[in-house]
Amino acid sequence: MKKHNFYAGPSILPKKVIKETAKALKNFAGTGLSLASISHRSKEFDDVIVKTQELFKELLEIPEGYSVLFLGGGASMQFAMVPYNLMKTKAAYINTGTWSTKAVKEAKLFGEVHEIKADDFFHLPKNINVPKDVDYVHITTNNTIYGTEFKEDFDFGVPLVADMSSDIFSRKIDVSKYDIIYGGAQKNLAPSGVTFVIIKNDILGKVDRKIPTMLNYQTHIDKGSMFNTPPVIPIYAAYQTLLWMKKKGGVEAMNKRAVKKADLLYNEIDRNPLFKGTVAKEDRSLMNICFVMNDEYKEHEQEFLAFATEKGMIGIKGHRSVGGFRASTYNSLPLKSVKALVKVMQQFEKKVLK
Ligand SMILES: *Cc1c(COP(=O)(O)O)cnc(C)c1O
Repeated sequence: MKKHNFYAGPSILPKKVIKETAKALKNFAGTGLSLASISHRSKEFDDVIVKTQELFKELLEIPEGYSVLFLGGGASMQFAMVPYNLMKTKAAYINTGTWSTKAVKEAKLFGEVHEIKADDFFHLPKNINVPKDVDYVHITTNNTIYGTEFKEDFDFGVPLVADMSSDIFSRKIDVSKYDIIYGGAQKNLAPSGVTFVIIKNDILGKVDRKIPTMLNYQTHIDKGSMFNTPPVIPIYAAYQTLLWMKKKGGVEAMNKRAVKKADLLYNEIDRNPLFKGTVAKEDRSLMNICFVMNDEYKEHEQEFLAFATEKGMIGIKGHRSVGGFRASTYNSLPLKSVKALVKVMQQFEKKVLK
């Protein structure tokens, strides 16, 4: 049976990416050697990492003066690297959920944190006021777990750092407004193992503390992400995903697809008497669509999950901290998977309300 992959991360990748990566695992760039066993300093891999950086710059229209890095450690490592490299005394954090809460925890090891929050994580904070005396402000653009998303580029008048793990390449952004953009690649880009960092070069060098070599962004800028061995296989897969995106029309086309898929699913959630959305409508994410069963049908939740799974819907169980359901509709998820999920919701409606 056809499987529809709604996992939140690691998550679906284009078929073509899996195919090309599998091919390279057998014979990489005509070398007769596997991608898994070539030197990261070989001419052939150097070519891949350079082209991947170039595609980042091209697809996101990254201006001059920025570097694109590929590191290990996940987005979670960035929670510490950001304050290590940028915080003198104080930073502001817009806390919109589980991931930003973890970022706040690390930042507090380095100085004072001014936290900005809504009453709960089902809403985004509005009319955000960032104090002018902070070294930077940190934002999580898409809240993967609760399903909220900021869809605008802010200008708070202080350096801006964004965790874009789960919505990078899904909408056009004005990179010049950001000083650092980072994310784990396993949501919209590649298998797990590589973290991308887009960094404005002149934001560095302002703190007095000593920074361990591997945690210092400057090390990785100076060495072109080759100070130590970078995650070769995930970088290759990311390269293939970027080629796929470019061929499909780039970020603008990805956004159109995302809006179409999200509209389709949110419309069904709003129409179907069995279900309801969990977050404020104006804050709804285009990438992680969260919903529960209406109170009078709550006892059917397990039954729906089993019903949907049996019909090939994989990974729609909500995060353990929220419950209900979550369908992740990342760039490479085809529209037909969302159509299939909507159909299953309608079939279940008929079954319950017969
Ligand atoms: C998944 C995720 C993370 C954590 O990423 P790791 O690579 O597992 O450390 C951080 N922030 C956001 C917004 C995420 O979606």
